[in-house]
Parts: sequence; C-alpha cells; structure tokens
Amino acid sequence: MELLQKQRDFFATQQTKDIKFRKKALKKLQNEIISREDEIAAAIYKDFKKPKFETLAFETQFVLAELKHVLRNIDLWARPERKSTALINWPSSDWIYKEPYGAVLIIAPWNYPFHLAFAPLIGAIAAGNTAVIKPSEVTPNTAKIISEIVTAVFTAEHVTVVEGGVEESQKLLAQQWDYIFFTGGTRVGKIVYESAAKHLTPVTLELGGKNPCIVDETASIALAAKRIVWGKFINAGQTCLASDYILVHKSVKEKLIESLKKSITKGYGDNMESSPDFARTVNQGHYKKLKAMLEGEEIIFGGKFNDEDNYLSPTLVNEPKLDSKLMQGEIFGPILPVIAYETEADIHKHIMHYGKPLATYIFSNNKKFQKKIVNTYSFGGGAINDSVIQISNKKLPFGGVGASGIGAYHGKTSFDIFSHRKSIIKKANWMDAPLRYPPYKIPMNLVKKVKHLF
Ligand code: NAD
Repeated sequence: MELLQKQRDFFATQQTKDIKFRKKALKKLQNEIISREDEIAAAIYKDFKKPKFETLAFETQFVLAELKHVLRNIDLWARPERKSTALINWPSSDWIYKEPYGAVLIIAPWNYPFHLAFAPLIGAIAAGNTAVIKPSEVTPNTAKIISEIVTAVFTAEHVTVVEGGVEESQKLLAQQWDYIFFTGGTRVGKIVYESAAKHLTPVTLELGGKNPCIVDETASIALAAKRIVWGKFINAGQTCLASDYILVHKSVKEKLIESLKKSITKGYGDNMESSPDFARTVNQGHYKKLKAMLEGEEIIFGGKFNDEDNYLSPTLVNEPKLDSKLMQGEIFGPILPVIAYETEADIHKHIMHYGKPLATYIFSNNKKFQKKIVNTYSFGGGAINDSVIQISNKKLPFGGVGASGIGAYHGKTSFDIFSHRKSIIKKANWMDAPLRYPPYKIPMNLVKKVKHLF
C-alpha cells in the first residue's frame, strides 16, 4: 500500500524522533481542535443527536486535557531512564531508551467517535510514530471532520485518515503495521488480533463487555441511583463503560427501582423524547437489535420508541433470564436490567456467566464487601459508589482484561504503549573481568553463587 510505504519512508528520515517536532505537531492539533470545537459538536449531533454538553465534556475537552497533560510531560517521559547496574556487569551504566515502533494503525468505533480516534493518536504521535486513523463509517459526519482536522494539522506521511467501513478496515489490516490500536467490539477485536498475529504486530485492543453494577443493602440508594442513571444514559447507553445490568440486594430492590425512575425523570423530564440531553440510537440496525432485546421482557419503566428517529427511551427491565436476548451479550443502549440477588453466590453466578468485563461498579457502604468484589473478580477497572468516572483520571490506565481487551492507555500509559522500551547497557572499557570467558576456570561451587551478582 502506497500510503503505508510513504509513512515508512517518512519515519526513516528520523524526523519524528525529535521531541520538538512531536510537540509542534501536538500543539497544532490542540489549536485546530479548540478552533473547531463547535463544528465538531455539530458533526456528532448530526450523526446521532449527541447532546452538545456530552460532546464537549466527553469528546473534545477530554482530548484537549490529554493533549495538555502530554505536552506538559513529554520531555520527561521521552528521556532515557537510568537503572542501577547489575553487579555482574560492573562497571557499566544501564538505560531504557523509548523508541517509537514506526507505523501505527488506529481503528476507531462510532460511540465516542472523536475521542476514540484522537486519544490514541496523541499517544502514538507523542511517542514518535506515524499513524493512520480509520474512523467508524457509522458516524460519517464525524469521520469527515476527523479527516479535515488531520489534513489541516499533519502531512499525510505523518498522519492520515482512511475513511470507510469493513472493506477498507480489512485492507488496512492486511498490511504489516508496527503497532495496531483497536477500539470496538470483542468479535471484531478477534479479527484484528488474528490479522496482527500474521505479522507479529503488537496490539492494544480496547473492547466491550457486560458490566455488572452491584448495589448491596448498605448502599446510599438515592445517590447510587443518581450516579448509575447518569453513567448509564449518557450517550443513550452507548458507552463501553456503562453499567450493563444491576444486581441489587433483594431487600432494597424496590427502593432502588423507585429512585432510578425518579433520577431518570429528573434528568430527562416526562417527555424524554423532546429532551435535548438525550442522544439517539446510532442507526436503524442497532435500534432494531435493541428493540428485539425487549421482546418478552417485563418493562418496568420507559420502553417508548420512535422508529422515525431511532429513539428508544431510558428503559428499566425487571428480572430478565440469563438466557434471554437481553442478557446474552453487551446491551449497548438505554436498557437497564434490574436483577435481585439474595446471597453472594447469586452475584458470583451472574458475573462468572460472562467473560471478564471492562468495568464493574459496587454501590455499598460496607468496606468488606467492596474489597471482596474488587479482589475476587477480574475486570478492566471500575468504581466504588460511582460509575464510569474511572476514565477521567489520566493517571489511571484505561483498558480491559480477557474478553474486554488487551493493554491500556491514557496519559503516560499511552506514551508507554506506543514506545518500545529498548534496554542498553553502556559498558566501560577500563576493566574486563576474565571470569566469564572460556576456558572456564572458576570452581563450580563459586559459579553456583553467581546469582547474587545479577
Ligand atoms: P465494531 O467492532 O463494530 O467496529 C469498530 C471498528 O472496526 C470500526 O471502525 C469498523 O469499521 C471496524 N470493523 C467492523 N467490522 C470489521 C471487520 N469485520 N473487520 C475489520 N474491521 C471492522 O464496534 P462499534 O460498533 O463501532 O463500537 C461498539 C463497540 O465498541 C462496543 O462493543 C463497545 O463496548 C466497544 N467500545 C469499547 C471501548 C473501549 O475503550 N474499551 C470504547 C468504545 C467502544
């Protein structure tokens, strides 16, 4: 592919190794995003009526915060790290150099279409790579503005955008990249991993999952409901980190349901369809899938549709069965099942039914219970007494585990994943201990003590 070759040729000029060059590019990106912030919000609104507040807070401002953090710290992160010498190599000085991989491919999804294209790009560029972004075809207006911004900021041999869908994505994946960063569903994640394996290309896979939200009998119910509703219904439930289903202790289930209803109504009003703060399901295909998930279920709140606009209101479902459509995979929409548990064995049964989720939330005032859930189950990350907010601290790596992904990013972690850590020992020449060279003369009982010198 001509494009990839151009990026390889550019990388070979060594220009991206210069920290000043990287900073200049990132500053240019920062200015371009600031000057087009309203246009970006308008493009995403056109795609699925994402409220402007949500675009500014969770897309552009998030990316700008990441840029600010990287620009402030890049000199420090890029510097070779000195490590203490192992006695066996003495006299030497030991270092880790941060080396860019080369040509990076970034494949992005549609749900936070701006954020999830640019957040990984910032890491890739800060670490000195070239990059190709393949935005999602599902949000074409956003893909277009992503392409315009990239064209305005970077030369094509440094960063470029390839718009298109599955076919374009697969053509890109058939090439040999030096690193692939993918955000999307677990099914496609496996396809990406398989393509990368053919060339032994390292990957970060940011995938989805079925995130449990556990509410025990000690939880502050009204506040818990407020925080669950916020995290679930931003972006109309199309958030990889949103609670997928609630497991609530049966003694507080009714109270929680009442509080959930109250919080939803407070946020979106009685006529939720006209709320400017509630996005739409992204397209007909996804909308129909969500509608089908509700067939045969006991809807205890919401369940209102408008086929013209892919509108599905915030919806609560009572006690879906584990083998129901709703509970088979990630819901990824404004439907929230509420399931009662009696014992910790019930919690265990539900959580273990699925692959490791991207997030788990625990609403409880019982420290022992909080600790037990955090220590017992494997999941990407989470929060105690809140939801979704773990993504907002740049110092916390963000990523999944098992079925929800491989690797993590944000802040320094982004810089690190896009850098190969190259270990170099600088050996002094003024002394050369003869012991390691043949013919070996050291008695074997002394060789058996060599471990103390490493
Ligand atoms: P998706 O996997 O359908 O698509 C993601 C990207 O892959 C798109 O650019 C698409 O064009 C491309 N693609 C789709 N099918 C492909 C194929 N067969 N071969 C090659 N490329 C292909 O995901 P989506 O529907 O855009 O996004 C929703 C999913 O992403 C959810 O599962 C959600 O949990 C997950 N997600 C995860 C994170 C995270 O950070 N972990 C963030 C957002 C979304």
